[in-house]
Amino acid sequence: MESRAGVVIVGAGIVGCSVAEHLSRHGWRDVVVVDQGPLFEAGGSTSHAPGLMFQTNPSKTMTDLAKYSVGRYMELELDGEPCGYQVGGLEVAETRERWEDLHRKHGLATSWGLDSELISPEECAEKVPLLDKNRVRGGFYVPTDGIAKAVRACEAMARLAQERGVEFYGETEVTGIEVRDGRVSAVETDRGRIETELVLSCAGMWGPRIGRMVGMKVPLVPMQHQYAWTTPLAELAGERREVVHPIVRHQDFSMYFRQRGDHYGIGAYRHRPMPVSADEIRRDYRGEGEFPSVLEFTPEDFEPTWQEARKMLPALQRAEIDRPMNGLFSFTPDGGPLLGESREVKGFWIAEAVWITHAIGVGKVMAEWITDGVPSIDISGADVHRFEPYALSPSYILARSAQSFREVYDIIHPQQPMEEPRPLRASPFYPRQKALGAFFLEASGWERPQWFEANESLLDGREVSERGEWAGRYWSEVVAAEALATRERVALYDMTSLKKAEVSGAGALDFLQRLTTGQLDKPPGKVTYTLMLDAAAGIRSDVTVARLDEDRFQLGLNGPRDIEWMERHLPPDGSVSVRDITPGTCCLGVWGPAARDVVQSLSEDDFSGEAFGFFNARRTYLREVPVTAMRLSYVGELGWEIYTSADLGLRLWDLLWEAGRPYGVLAGGRGAFNSLRVEKGYRAWGTDMTTEHDPYEAGLGFAVKPDKGDFVGREALLERKEAGPRRKLVCTVLDDPDVVVMGNEPVWAGGGAVGYVTSADFGYTLGQSIAYAWVAPEHAGVGDRLEIEYFGRRYPATVAEEPLFDPAMKRMRA
Ligand SMILES: Cc1cc2nc3c(=O)[nH]c(=O)nc-3n(C[C@H](O)[C@H](O)[C@H](O)COP(=O)(O)OP(=O)(O)OC[C@H]3O[C@@H](n4cnc5c(N)ncnc54)[C@H](O)[C@@H]3O)c2cc1C
Repeated sequence: MESRAGVVIVGAGIVGCSVAEHLSRHGWRDVVVVDQGPLFEAGGSTSHAPGLMFQTNPSKTMTDLAKYSVGRYMELELDGEPCGYQVGGLEVAETRERWEDLHRKHGLATSWGLDSELISPEECAEKVPLLDKNRVRGGFYVPTDGIAKAVRACEAMARLAQERGVEFYGETEVTGIEVRDGRVSAVETDRGRIETELVLSCAGMWGPRIGRMVGMKVPLVPMQHQYAWTTPLAELAGERREVVHPIVRHQDFSMYFRQRGDHYGIGAYRHRPMPVSADEIRRDYRGEGEFPSVLEFTPEDFEPTWQEARKMLPALQRAEIDRPMNGLFSFTPDGGPLLGESREVKGFWIAEAVWITHAIGVGKVMAEWITDGVPSIDISGADVHRFEPYALSPSYILARSAQSFREVYDIIHPQQPMEEPRPLRASPFYPRQKALGAFFLEASGWERPQWFEANESLLDGREVSERGEWAGRYWSEVVAAEALATRERVALYDMTSLKKAEVSGAGALDFLQRLTTGQLDKPPGKVTYTLMLDAAAGIRSDVTVARLDEDRFQLGLNGPRDIEWMERHLPPDGSVSVRDITPGTCCLGVWGPAARDVVQSLSEDDFSGEAFGFFNARRTYLREVPVTAMRLSYVGELGWEIYTSADLGLRLWDLLWEAGRPYGVLAGGRGAFNSLRVEKGYRAWGTDMTTEHDPYEAGLGFAVKPDKGDFVGREALLERKEAGPRRKLVCTVLDDPDVVVMGNEPVWAGGGAVGYVTSADFGYTLGQSIAYAWVAPEHAGVGDRLEIEYFGRRYPATVAEEPLFDPAMKRMRA
């Protein structure tokens, strides 16, 4: 075995083999892949997975990964045998709710550029003759879905990689990883030591064990998942081909089917979650056919699935269960994969909790990331650093991973909060909000009021249109009243859940100048809205930077990934420190025409327009509470974000509440907040823009000062600007104000799909239904007519000049 390598990959399952092949495409030659099991049926999840690939996913990222993967499976072959079968994928609906969900799914597929159709029960039965058409209302069919032969694909990719110099070693267990000065220096195996500065763990459900070798927490739980083949079916007698029927999902009963030759396979998620510790899984597979990743079958858990399968495919009534198993694979707290480099140890990367459906795409983005520092698609939802510290606790990982197992085929509303553990994080204002009848949703663990029952009286005399069932979930008419009253009076918005960091030290300014697009070299007391880009000029985050002192800045961020990104770029000389101040800091947005009167009445300081200008910040007191006041507003009104330490939060609320009474102060919820920000055209990172977009495309060119000097992404940004936009983020207004869409719906023009919706809401001040959308540049002109598809119907909309509300900024600058 090699004693030195550029990269050591742990695991030759589908992920490890794919990364190796893609690294070799990027020119890497000295790559070594080791697996504790024999090659290439190594005993992990890949060895026994039946290989169904349904590509459509609410996440654009996951769909893109699947699309790429499917394309590669279909072109790969091993000794003349194909690695994929494009037989199509059919998701059937038994219930009305599922049928509606399939309409939404059809919309999602269109948004993400995947051809699909909704078909009748008869058409379902034509495609899958074993189906009882009387039990289904209809189906969602994707012709490019299909089956992957994952073990074959492993070997096929390995051969391509081997031709380029990559070495694969089976029956070689990684037993330790050496770290020197915070960097990987070698991998220890039971067959010798390999010096290397780069390790990529693709160990699947053994991932937490490998992570622990360098002190990294890997938040996944191996779960048992039941799968069974049937005995041969008379209806398929003589069928020798691997698969000809489309793969089928029957999600109303959390199950799926595939045909193989003359029999069928049935997979079940309708059983209790059965977690297993990564340390308990055997590692001693030597190819006797009993995979370490397969545990003993528990027939009582499978029985309801089997009975349901025989109803949906009546031919199974004449068959028996054959070779059933409880197969293990990884689940994570939010169901997404875990990709990225360790925070603790440089050079230690992971790519785990990945399905076969996405694995080849994951190999591609990992190779891009490791080689060039930038994955070509937005991986924020798969980044291992997306979790807050509490989410790395064993109890949270277990509880949430079990929940993601239960929900794997559920219909999930985009706003549906987690149920347990709650309440998890609460701002100091929580008791007051509860007393006002807050309806709480949850974000990053925070309890976040969506609206307040106490504001119901504000509805008097206002007409509010009802919403449809889907858009009306987690919504109340009170949202409208709160939005309107904010523009008329003054409201308190709890902004505590906003990620906040303090960046300080002698090198802080230079550091932030290098990481952001804006000019931050301004006197203390100034606030700047700016962007952090990746090296390819994709928007990594939008950030508000307040210079509080010469060497101290407070940042409003989008999440833990931003902190990790900054830490990764810290200068080695120790001249800058980054501190996540979110847990100990609370914040109230005091917004509305009467905001100045309220705040001024609590302070000796001068809050007048002349003394406290727009985008200025100041340390001061509101009565006895020391605060940082920033004159900003995400809702487009006069006002301040008022920050203080968590211990004084309740006092701050009470002071502002009392001072606000004469002005009719109200508490505003997230529902109103979103409507107001959409009216004002303020973008939400992750929804409106990601690394797949540059600032000019996103309408954020104003936040870029290319002449300020060098910064991350500058060179690529100038090239991007020169090349022109690939697509544009536009504001559209629907003709029918009663149709409110939710986001991710497809946008049509001239008979073709041209983009998808990002943020959308009803603008109560304007009386308009607003939908921001990414569209092809030729459809981005003001006045251009588009159609937005919602539940299978297309609704006309027009591209509008933005922002729709107060373009002259009179209110905020008042
Ligand atoms: C019953 C069942 C059905 C499934 N069906 C589907 C499906 O239809 N479609 C789909 O997309 N996905 C499916 N999956 C999920 C899919 O199988 C997995 O997500 C995928 O195979 C994971 O691939 P991997 O390469 O990450 O992990 P693995 O295939 O588990 O590979 C990890 C490798 O790391 C090696 N390793 C671990 N520790 C060490 C060590 N210390 N030293 C050396 N090597 C080590 C292991 O031996 C193993 O080979 C199914 C899973 C199960 C259990």
